[in-house]
Formats: sequence, C-alpha cells, structure tokens
Amino acid sequence: MRRVREVVDYGREFYERRLAANDRIRLVRSAGRFRNGGVEFDTPDGPLSFTDVPVVVATGARPAIPDDVAGLEDVPFLTNESFLELDRLPASIAIIGAGPIGVEFAQALARLDVATTLLLRGEAPLSHEEPDARETLTKILVREGVRLAPFARAVKASWVEGGIELSWEGGTVVVEQLLVATGREPAVDVLDPEAAGLELVDGGVEVDEHLATPVDGIWALGDAIGGVHRAFQYTHVATYEGPQVAENILRGGGHRPSYAVIPRVTFTDPEVAAVGYTEMFAVAAGHDVVTHVKPIREVGKARAMGETEGFVKIVLDRPTGRLLGATIMSPHAGDMLPELTMPMHVEGGTLEPLLATMHGHPTLAEAVKVAAREAAAKLG
Ligand SMILES: Cc1cc2nc3c(=O)[nH]c(=O)nc-3n(C[C@H](O)[C@H](O)[C@H](O)COP(=O)(O)OP(=O)(O)OC[C@H]3O[C@@H](n4cnc5c(N)ncnc54)[C@H](O)[C@@H]3O)c2cc1C
Repeated sequence: MRRVREVVDYGREFYERRLAANDRIRLVRSAGRFRNGGVEFDTPDGPLSFTDVPVVVATGARPAIPDDVAGLEDVPFLTNESFLELDRLPASIAIIGAGPIGVEFAQALARLDVATTLLLRGEAPLSHEEPDARETLTKILVREGVRLAPFARAVKASWVEGGIELSWEGGTVVVEQLLVATGREPAVDVLDPEAAGLELVDGGVEVDEHLATPVDGIWALGDAIGGVHRAFQYTHVATYEGPQVAENILRGGGHRPSYAVIPRVTFTDPEVAAVGYTEMFAVAAGHDVVTHVKPIREVGKARAMGETEGFVKIVLDRPTGRLLGATIMSPHAGDMLPELTMPMHVEGGTLEPLLATMHGHPTLAEAVKVAAREAAAKLG
C-alpha cells in the first residue's frame, strides 16, 4: 500500500510542481462551487470569487454505491478510494462488481493471500469484452484462488460474529472486509450545479459535441460528464478532452472530440486490452464481419517468457476490410494496443499500416502482426 501511495503521490507532486512553475496559473486548494453568478472557493482568507470567466467542470467521479443491497449502509465497506488508505491487508474480502476495478483488485488481493470472493452479475468478469478473454480470465482467477460467485446479485450485508456477512441469491460469505466496485458516478453535486442553471443528465453534466454545457461560458470534461460519456470514464479520455476544451474556449473553435477509437485496458495479469467493437457488438451493429484469433503461445517470445495464455483477436468489416475492433490478452497488452488503434485513425481504417510495418523478433508484438496478416488473408 505504501508503494501505491508513493507512486500516486509522485505523479500528483510532479503535476503540482509544473502548475506552480507556470506564473499564469493560480492553484487554489479548496472545493469550489457555483455561487453568486460565478465560482466561489472558501479559503483561510475568506471567499474567493470568480465571475465573468469561462468555467470548466472537471470534478471527476466517485464510487457509485448500489441502493438495493439491504443493510449496506449499516456495515463498513471499502471503495477503491478507501481501500488504499488501509495500513494492513484484511484476511478475507468480498468484492461486489467484476468490472475492471473489481477484477484487478481480486487478482492482486488473491496473490497477496487474501481470501477473496468476487461477485459477478453474469457468468464471467468484464461483461463488455470478448468471451475468449472473459473465459481465460475466469480460469486464471479460479486457479489463483479467487472464489467466483457467478450470477450473484448482492442482496444483503450485515454484521455477524466474525465479520460482515454478504448474501446474494444462492450464496453467502462472511468476510473481514467488503469492497464495493460497482462503477463510478459523476461527482458534480458538490458544485451546486443548479445554482449555475446546469441540468444533470444521468447524474453528470450535459454537454454538446464541443463539450460546452447549455449554460454560456461553462464547459465540462472527463468523468464529470453524464449521458453516453459515462461509458468513457478513462484518464486518456479526460486528458484528450482537456486541450480540446481549452482550444474551444480560447479560440472560439469548433473542436469536436471523437469517441470512435477509445482504448480499454484492464490491468490484470495478463492484461486485457481492447479497442472498438467486439465481434458481438460488430454483428449487432449490422456488420458482416471477418474475425481471426491468434493465440500468443504461437509466437516465440511468449513461449520464451513462459506466458502462453492469451490471444490477439481481430474483427474486420468484410466488404471494406476496415478494422472494426481488436482485443489483445497478453502481458503488456495495453502497451501493444496502439498497433491496432493507429490503423483505425488512418483513412480507410484497414490493417495496411500494420501489415507494412516490420516487427522486431522475438517480440510479443509479433502476435499482433501475424494476427493481422492472417485476418487480412481471410478477406480473400
Ligand atoms: C481504482 C481506479 C482505477 C482506474 N484505472 C484506470 C486506468 O487504469 N486507466 C484509465 O484510463 N482510467 C482509470 N480510471 C479512471 C480514471 O481515474 C478517470 O477516468 C480519470 O481520473 C478522470 O479524470 P477527471 O479529470 O475527469 O477526474 P479526476 O481525475 O477524478 O479529477 C477530478 C479532480 O477534481 C477535484 N474536485 C472535485 N470536486 C471539486 C470541487 N468542488 N472543487 C475543486 N476540486 C474538485 C477532485 O479532488 C479531483 O482532484 C480508474 C479509476 C479508478 C477509481
């Protein structure tokens, strides 16, 4: 935990130093809110107000706590935020939610000898990803000692002798700690958005295609945005939107961020990295698809590393050869994913740039290249 905090603190301090070094930026350590026609911060020297300036709402998100688990409010539970404040590991834990955060915690804690139970809403974790990745991850988690509870909607939490009892339809477990990892919701209410005339959609700020809110002079970015943007809660989306909002404010520009190609990386071991459509979503969207799966054990580097679980899957649009989506399950999958996001940005969106690129040998990235070559060959 100490190391996690050190890494996080290093990043924060690095950026704070950069802000402090810029004499056009004033850093105020206070929670702001809309008030008196502007934004106001409480400071030890009294309220600090800003009016007639553009405002960017970038207040992020906080853990979403389910309201249908009876007794949850009466037992202590952890979230991804409070977990990192613990100074010792619990002996046992139950995790509600098997999205990226729940799965990453489950694997890490099981490896640290914490008796870990992971509740899944469906049959396997990471419900939006390729079934091959979900099945492989399920196998790995079970092998590493995670107790998986499939189709387990948590219904009740209560104090019992020996800890917290968590029940779901069909099962129960008593644990020392409970971790709620059921998603994140925009954290904008503390700002008193109504005071500025802002209406919320799906709990977050409403924006147009330029990231402007309906209220003149107020913009938003990142996890604070509601509606369809709630599917885009990633650091790389927020950092992509930041400069676009700045440009739009400063130059009155018409930057429209594109959300067509957003990488998704789950930091399990091996990692699951994906972009665009899975096969199922591509078919559901009406595409005639060609798919290809290349097991990573078929490249020398993976065998040499003894890392043979995983694959590269490619989904192509049959008539055009356009890359619709891809998944890599492998060590360093997230680092290799740009190989497959880049072609999606090139005109035509085919695998050509990747096929024309020579790859070093032996590397894990060869699996991506070979998968692409074999997928392209299937187009005929
Ligand atoms: C456990 C966990 C793991 C994650 N892993 C990944 C990952 O691997 N990859 C990835 O891309 N994303 C990941 N995310 C998501 C990522 O952290 C967010 O998408 C990203 O931080 C959003 O950036 P943001 O700028 O919108 O908000 P944030 O980074 O949350 O920043 C919001 C800031 O606003 C401040 N603030 C809030 N209210 C006020 C106020 N009233 N006045 C002043 N300041 C205020 C907050 O204190 C905070 O500093 C993870 C999230 C969690 C919780």
